Amino acid sequence: MSRCPGQDMRNLTISYHPCPECGKPVEFFSDEMRLHCPHCRAWVHRDRAPSCIEWCKGAKECLGAELYAKLAGEIKKK
Ligand SMILES: [Zn+2]
Repeated sequence: MSRCPGQDMRNLTISYHPCPECGKPVEFFSDEMRLHCPHCRAWVHRDRAPSCIEWCKGAKECLGAELYAKLAGEIKKK
């Protein structure tokens, strides 16, 4: 059972990422991929695409097929 380091509950960290709609910082725990902005309710993604998706063979199971497909699509658009 291998998991991405960022998914390890023992290593939870908090980081802030700006909301794409209102620009206010949104607090993310390291195991959260996306949240509703508490200020304007827009979806905020922790990263445009998580770095592990590009190299981790387990990314599809790790993120779930739906989110994986969405994020993989966003990578391709770049
Ligand atoms: Zn916002």
